[in-house]
Amino acid sequence: MSVDKAFREMIRHEIELQLKPLRAELSRLEAGTSDLDALRDVAARLAPVAAAMAPLFGAQGPKPAKRAPGRPAKVAAAPAGGKRRGRKPAAGGARSCAIIGCGSPSRTKGYCAAHYQKLRMLTKTNRRPSAWVDYAPPDSVEDVKLPRGRAAAKALAAASQGGSST
Ligand SMILES: [Zn+2]
Repeated sequence: MSVDKAFREMIRHEIELQLKPLRAELSRLEAGTSDLDALRDVAARLAPVAAAMAPLFGAQGPKPAKRAPGRPAKVAAAPAGGKRRGRKPAAGGARSCAIIGCGSPSRTKGYCAAHYQKLRMLTKTNRRPSAWVDYAPPDSVEDVKLPRGRAAAKALAAASQGGSST
């Protein structure tokens, strides 16, 4: 006899044992001679068995309350006006890009993200205009229009040779 079967036998035996008084009570109920206290007693005696049996049959006992009643289930939100994530604009608040007519907030060395990238590219290719100084005042530097296509290749080649063709 497997352990499993033995266990089932034991359970069945236990249930039979517990159900006997219930059956007796039921027959008395049918006969009209029952009293409620006896029924309550049987129910009380069956309760632990039911609780023990429940997991075997996949039943769920009464679930514990997830949270105390009355308390709102709000996640603590960041306080208004608190620290913001991400980059903040340069110190001084509304400082804008050094390039005239850009209008984007400055981020690095007085330039917005896009124009700082352009500045880096120009520096790397030896074409940085003299006006494009670090920390230039907002809206003070003339943008440069970069040549495109063949002209761009020519300009790059000239720049790499050390010539200044702007
Ligand atoms: Zn800009």
